[in-house]
Amino acid sequence: MRFGEGELVAVLTTQPLDRTLDYRAPEGGCTLGDFVEVPLGPRRVSGVVWGKAAGGWDPAKIRAIHRVLDVPPMREEMVDFLTRAAGYTITPLPAMLRLATRAPGLGEAPGMRKVLVPGHGEPARMTDARRAVMDALAEYDGAPVLQSELAQSAGVTTSVIKGLVKAGAILEQDSPCDLPYPPLDVTRIGKPLTEDQETASGTLIHALKSGGYGTTLLKGVTGSGKTEVYLEAVAACLARGRQALVLLPEIALSAEFLSRVEARFGARPAEWHSGVTMTERRRCWRMVAEGGAQFVVGARSALFLPFRDLGLIVVDEEHDTSYKQEDGVLYNARDMAVLRASLCSAQVVLASATPSLETWVNAESGKYGKLSLTSRFGDAELPAMRAIDMRAEDMPANQWLSPSLRAATQTRLDAGEQTLLFLNRRGYAPVTLCRACGHQIGCDECDARMVEHRFQKRLMCHQCGATKQIPEKCPSCEVEGKLAPVGPGVERVAEETKAAFPDARVAVLSSDLFSSARALKAQIVEIAEGAADIIIGTQLVAKGHNFPLLTLVGVVDADLGLQGSDLRAAERTFQLMRQVAGRAGRAEKPGEALLQTFQPEHPVIRAILSGDEEAFWTAEAQEREAAGMPPFGRLAGVILSSPDLQAVFDTGNALARADGPLRRVGAQVYGPAPAPIARVRGRHRVRLLVKASKSVPLQPALAEWVAQIKLPRDLRLSLDIDPQSFF
Ligand code: ADP
Ligand code: ZN
Repeated sequence: MRFGEGELVAVLTTQPLDRTLDYRAPEGGCTLGDFVEVPLGPRRVSGVVWGKAAGGWDPAKIRAIHRVLDVPPMREEMVDFLTRAAGYTITPLPAMLRLATRAPGLGEAPGMRKVLVPGHGEPARMTDARRAVMDALAEYDGAPVLQSELAQSAGVTTSVIKGLVKAGAILEQDSPCDLPYPPLDVTRIGKPLTEDQETASGTLIHALKSGGYGTTLLKGVTGSGKTEVYLEAVAACLARGRQALVLLPEIALSAEFLSRVEARFGARPAEWHSGVTMTERRRCWRMVAEGGAQFVVGARSALFLPFRDLGLIVVDEEHDTSYKQEDGVLYNARDMAVLRASLCSAQVVLASATPSLETWVNAESGKYGKLSLTSRFGDAELPAMRAIDMRAEDMPANQWLSPSLRAATQTRLDAGEQTLLFLNRRGYAPVTLCRACGHQIGCDECDARMVEHRFQKRLMCHQCGATKQIPEKCPSCEVEGKLAPVGPGVERVAEETKAAFPDARVAVLSSDLFSSARALKAQIVEIAEGAADIIIGTQLVAKGHNFPLLTLVGVVDADLGLQGSDLRAAERTFQLMRQVAGRAGRAEKPGEALLQTFQPEHPVIRAILSGDEEAFWTAEAQEREAAGMPPFGRLAGVILSSPDLQAVFDTGNALARADGPLRRVGAQVYGPAPAPIARVRGRHRVRLLVKASKSVPLQPALAEWVAQIKLPRDLRLSLDIDPQSFF
């Protein structure tokens, strides 16, 4: 839809307003979906031409759009997606629009950067490194390439390239910085697939050829070749000229992943995550919109990129909790991927060894397709799993590695193999206790205990990040020298390990011990190549990476996560344990996983050990269905927070009383109750929980419900549809 100069149009801005604003089309007119800059009071803000003017303003006062940005207009499908996602998550549209425009300097003319093109033939002096560069450059067919990308594909340092520029064999030119990404070669043949893999990739490719929407669960143990299979689907999608997106839960994964893509397609995909520079972000956003990026690998927010023709979305490790954004706009990227795909006729692949119960139920009911890879590729076998009954172990105080686990570790050390000791707890000790008065050091701002981090020599609150010095005397009774660490974190287990195995090389992998994601990635690669004998790690090692020398996984505290009121505690523990166990024995050597537990009879521990997944999921599904809980029923959380304790409870009670709109759709409200962490950053938190049947229109009822109550200043209300965590 075109609007001529002076015509009135509605603009949705990224400002927190509850409606669109009317403006006059600028000189030269504008088009529906155009990204624009508009005057608002004394400021200029950005927005999108959303439709015909809404009216209701004095026409004399309506100002003109300042300018139309030089980027492709927002497509109708994206408008649909943002509108539907906003409706589902009860998020104001401007906040959704902000997610879709998170690229810096979009409106600016592209800056210039240096690029390289072939020069005057071969250099006089040729070396192996120079040869590699010339060959790599030839693959670009004369298209300009960034120095860093050329160095990467040739596998040389940039100094080799600089030498070639000096020699005139390569020319340096200035080019707008938003360069298209190197083309991927989809004609290359992938690895020969096993029968299982062939069937799975064949089914996905067939679905892609239909050109319509569909979602498929691709289930298979770690190492069964899920990545191999979905890369075939990516190849098929790109070959049809459509774009592909792979979402990964954490950037710790992507180093290995990017090299795999490069090995498969001869070039790297575009990347979108927090570790990407501003210039690259902007390049990615623009190229996705213009078609200069065929394949994007990214974190959950990549879902809001302005794809021109998205044909495939892969959500790898679909059960991963990091797909749920827990602040700002509360959305689940897995569910939003399905929504987006349904609007642009794309296929979704949800890959996991341990799918979420939601996805498992959708696959069982036939709503999603289901493909299973049953065996691990090659000879690698699932590790043997066994419980170590801690009640029967002889454990000295302040030690956490049982004699059985130590003996198993020693055996691996003697054989020159790696051991992973897994504990999902950062820091040295979770509690610092005064042995004189029993006081536990807590955070001043939150109702959380402070965790000692010995490497940093500080106490840290894992809730708000506040730190303080480890005090000499107890802040409560003032007795000196009686403060003692209680319980283990990874740092403490590392200390015990070093003492027990003084000759072993011990490495600790915990996100807080690395200055950057890059440093962490580098360390993971070194360890995978054999730089450590014993690895001590938190959650992050449980994902994706290949450790061919690893043959033993010891779970220090398998009971962690079985307690607690969290609806998903059993599911999470089950997934985590299976994944950690899946780290062992990925190559030729068979692996073993040992679980230290005080409750070997607990149903979750038993299900993990028996490997009877279907039994676990069926039982868990039945329990949830009987209770009307997700995925059979629907939950919505409301968190109220304020520095004023009385105000949060008063508002919570007022909401609970005004439940008319909820009752009309048969929904019940529970609470208000103090949130499990009742105070964060000095704000008191109160939670209400709404439970409804899945078939009722809950969102409009919720919106009407909360709109009835006028919120005191300083009180924040956030609505969380399908809450994942109960903090
Ligand atoms: P998953 O994604 O299920 O964990 P991957 O796709 O990463 O599994 O496969 C595990 C390992 O086995 C990888 O190193 C992969 O390259 C290798 N692999 C899987 N399938 C094949 C195949 N058909 N041919 C050769 N190597 C394979
Ligand atoms: Zn705190």
